[in-house]
Formats: sequence, structure tokens, C-alpha cells
Amino acid sequence: MRTANRLVAIFLLFACCGSAGERKAKNVILFLGDAAGTSTLHAASVQEYGDSNRLFLYRMPNIALSDTSSASDWVTDSAAGMTAIVTGEKTNNGVVSQSDSAVRGKKDGEPLKTLLEYAEERALSTGVVSNSPITDATPAACYAHVNDRKMTGEIFRQALNPRFGDGVDVMIGPGRQAILTATRALGMNLETEIPAKGFYFGETLDQVPADARRAIVLLGPGEVDLGAATELAIRILAKNPKGFFLMVESDLHTDNLSRGLSRTVAFDRIIESTAATASKDTLILFTADHSFDIRVGGSTRKGLPLVTQDANGKPVPAKSVMINGHHSAEQVLVAAQGPGASRVRGVIANTDIFHIILSAYRWKPEPAHTPPQITSGN
Ligand SMILES: [Zn+2]
Repeated sequence: MRTANRLVAIFLLFACCGSAGERKAKNVILFLGDAAGTSTLHAASVQEYGDSNRLFLYRMPNIALSDTSSASDWVTDSAAGMTAIVTGEKTNNGVVSQSDSAVRGKKDGEPLKTLLEYAEERALSTGVVSNSPITDATPAACYAHVNDRKMTGEIFRQALNPRFGDGVDVMIGPGRQAILTATRALGMNLETEIPAKGFYFGETLDQVPADARRAIVLLGPGEVDLGAATELAIRILAKNPKGFFLMVESDLHTDNLSRGLSRTVAFDRIIESTAATASKDTLILFTADHSFDIRVGGSTRKGLPLVTQDANGKPVPAKSVMINGHHSAEQVLVAAQGPGASRVRGVIANTDIFHIILSAYRWKPEPAHTPPQITSGN
């Protein structure tokens, strides 16, 4: 009895007081800067604006720092990093939304229920948008459960064969040829299977019909217009009066410094314009799955830019920028506005982001997965 009362009290605390006076979120847009650690954000701000604190992200009303470790390592990859954010459970590197009993490439773990699946179960509309292939680890962790992020065909197969609702409604991102090839190897024909599930299926953003409610756009090579893709996804998903969940990823690895920094600035502007135009009942949250080892050292404020040019006019890092080329372990920024954003504060775990989003919707967390059966005589 005492335990039950205590549980009720804890639940009430969780449900009400953490976001006192805040309305319920109808929609959530999760902006995921892949590898966008604080050093990357700083460098992007300096490169673009000549000042360290100019990004829109820094002006969002709620800010926190999040740990990024996985179950197996201090330094996570995108698969385990995104699994933590969208399922509330840490798993092993390389594993996509399965429990940490999974062994990468060898053994399945239990499927972990994702934020996108919670939304599908409640008949909201859902989407994933990325400038990385739409079967890459970050978007995949929203809708698929596999023991190895490299299982492109199986990841896409699961998007069309969902565990909850009618599955992800909008997918926009590159990887068209690789996905067609990988799914063909599984005996699938996307040209017939995708339209049969009620999707518009295309390869450019501008051909999606205005009345589409479900769309899969598999883009070819070339830089993705992530701003246009985000606007298109929101336009489709917002037709659902019950609300939506959308994840937008930008690959912000700075091993290509010039591209990484310009994409970071562009992503910040997309978040700013989305925040300016989104309905008041939309939670907008930015975070990174992990940091990246880029350091600015030794340059004066009025010195060289961070990106300069070699003799052939090719952009190269200035001498003052050290790029180690690896993911790194330190905490990353979380920034948010809208209903539920007040819980974004302090130093949190990556798994807390799942609970922050779930409670913004006012949904209760379920046990992440069924524990393995204990057999007799153990
Ligand atoms: Zn990543």
C-alpha cells in the first residue's frame, strides 16, 4: 500500500509538476545534429558570424548539457546514441533500438519501443528527414530494430512493416540507389510495395502532391535542401489533427570542416525559422547524439578564419583548428522551446531526452522491453 501510494505520488510529480502550468505538446520536432558537439557549434558561430555566441540555439529559452555514453562505451556511435534518445535505454554501439543484450551483427536484443512508435500507436503522424541516407543509424533508430546498423535492406523493410499504427508516414532523405539494391536483395519491389501502402513515392521534393498524407522521397546524390525537406514534412504531418512527431537530422561531422560548419549554420537557421513558424503547441528540441573531436586553439580573435583555402582554392582547416577525426565523449548541448521545454535544464543523460519528450506529450513510459525469461534451475 505504502509502495503504491509512493508510486502514485511519483507519477503525479512526473506528470504535473515538472512542467507546471505548461500546456501539453501536440507536436514534437526533434532536431538531431549528428556529431554537433559544443566545439562544432562554437566553430560554426565563429566561422559564420565572427563571434562565438551567435547561433539561434544559444538563444532558445531552455538549455541543458547531455551525456552521450552508450551501454558499451563512453564514446557512442550514432546507432546507440540515437537509441538512447528515442527509447530511453542505452545499448551497445552499432545496435539500432534493441536492448543491450544484442551483440552487433550476431545476436538480436529485445526491440525497444521508440518515440515514433509511441506516436504511431496513438494515431499521430510521424516522419524522419535527413541529409544522410534515410536508413542510416540516426533515422533508423526511430523506426527500426536491428542488431547492426549496416542492415540497410532490413531497416527499410521494417519501415514498411511497422509494429505500431501504420508506421512512419514521411521519409525524406538520400540513399535511393543503395536502398533499392538492398531491398531488391530481400525480394522486395519498392516501386509497387511503397504505393500499395498508401505512400506517394518519389525522388525529388518538388513533385510531392499537395494533398499527400504519406510520402517517401528517396533522393539521389547531391546536397539535400534540408530546409525545404523539413518544411515539406511539416506541411504533410500537420494535416493530422491529433498531432505529429518529426525527427530531422543533419550530418554535422567536421572531418570535412568547411561542409560541417556551413551545414551547422544552415541547420541552426532551419531550427530558427521552424521555431518562428511552428504552432504554439509544438515542442522543438535540438540535441546531438555525440560530440566530435574538433578544437580551436591558438588563433587570435581577429586572425585567420577557421576555414581557409589551399593553393588550388580548395577549402582547408586553418592552422589553428585541430581535427582528430573521431567522435568524442563529452556532453552535448540540448536546447528547447515550447510545451515541455522547461524540463530541459541542468546536466542530464541522453536517455532523459526520451522522458522529456514523452512527458511533453503527457504519455506514460512503459517498461522498455520484456526482460529475458528466467529459466528454472539456473
Ligand atoms: Zn552520430
